[in-house]
Amino acid sequence: MTEETKLIHAGRDRDPYTGASSIPIYQVSTFSQPDPEHLGVYDYARSDNPTREALEETIAVLEHGARGLAFASGMAATSSVLMLFQTGDHLVVGRDIYGGTYRVLTTLFKRWGLEVTFVDSTDTDAVRKAITPATRGLFVETPANPLLQITDLRAMASIAQEHGIMAITDNTFMTPYLQRPLDLGFDIVVHSATKFLGGHSDVIAGLAVTRTPELGKRLKTIQNSFGAILGPQDSWLVLRGIKTLGVRLEAQQRSALQIARWLEKRSDVRKVFYPGLERHAGHAIHAQQATGGGAVVSFELADGPTAVAFLKRVKLPLVAVSLGGVESILSYPRTMSHAAMPSEERQARGITDGLVRLSVGLESAEDLIADLGQALQV
Ligand SMILES: *Cc1c(COP(=O)(O)O)cnc(C)c1O
Repeated sequence: MTEETKLIHAGRDRDPYTGASSIPIYQVSTFSQPDPEHLGVYDYARSDNPTREALEETIAVLEHGARGLAFASGMAATSSVLMLFQTGDHLVVGRDIYGGTYRVLTTLFKRWGLEVTFVDSTDTDAVRKAITPATRGLFVETPANPLLQITDLRAMASIAQEHGIMAITDNTFMTPYLQRPLDLGFDIVVHSATKFLGGHSDVIAGLAVTRTPELGKRLKTIQNSFGAILGPQDSWLVLRGIKTLGVRLEAQQRSALQIARWLEKRSDVRKVFYPGLERHAGHAIHAQQATGGGAVVSFELADGPTAVAFLKRVKLPLVAVSLGGVESILSYPRTMSHAAMPSEERQARGITDGLVRLSVGLESAEDLIADLGQALQV
């Protein structure tokens, strides 16, 4: 079955109890038990809810995994996965992972004795060298935010296998429609379903998928014990979003490539970062592990004041954090995602004050280009 068809029919494509074409929102906390000695499949909705379960089955099929689990947010999914480790365990983590993941590792999990070494995961040798006898996990993200750096997923999976450690990746920017890390040897994939999977900027949600049933069982125990579950309404919104993921991403990445090429030609744009451009660093590796460039393009303007003036003049895209919605969203790393990072560190990493990130939505590329063009005019 093709990935397009799976988006419509994967997992539970209709309600098994009524045949309803849309999985009902089971707004419920508890389930009546006819036999008090032998409880049914559903007993209490923290453990299992049919709406959440439909989403969990769907994401497992889409990621080619054994088990999917839905959480209250992307960070709840990531944090629940990190609870698979214990005090004294060492993790090797990509330097350019999502800011919230960096924060939870360097504050909460640090207090609980999880040791972390951050490395540039685009440098496979550096990752290999960072492994110690205490290393139990490797956590990377590709393309990374906001410069869309590419990490070689096959190389990461083979390092993890060599050392018998768990390989985890955040697949939010690609979604399983474009990239399936479990097929490349990863053990766990996490998502902020808030972004492309939900797709409409109307829900906060997280997902995790494991390659093996055993790991799925361990993570399910954490989900049920810690309790950061996704509610039925929000599960339904993500299920609905997933049905149009293919057509949305196809259209959004077509526009993204067109916009990236247009930006490349402008003399007032210093640099363009987009994995779909042939001259993007890591383009060849990306093309071997993903089937498209995605819908996020970053570009660098002359300096901070120029970027701020541009963001104030732009009319169509929202100026906001987040990405992956049907509406285009422009983010400013300096004051948004990377505000907590010291200025020198930001500059050293290439996140200059002139850098902006565009999540391309479903508006026509022509209208977006016209709007970006007028906003760039000084
Ligand atoms: C937004 C995001 C997260 C966090 O997800 P929430 O749903 O906001 O908790 C994690 N990883 C990436 C790559 C993200 O973009």
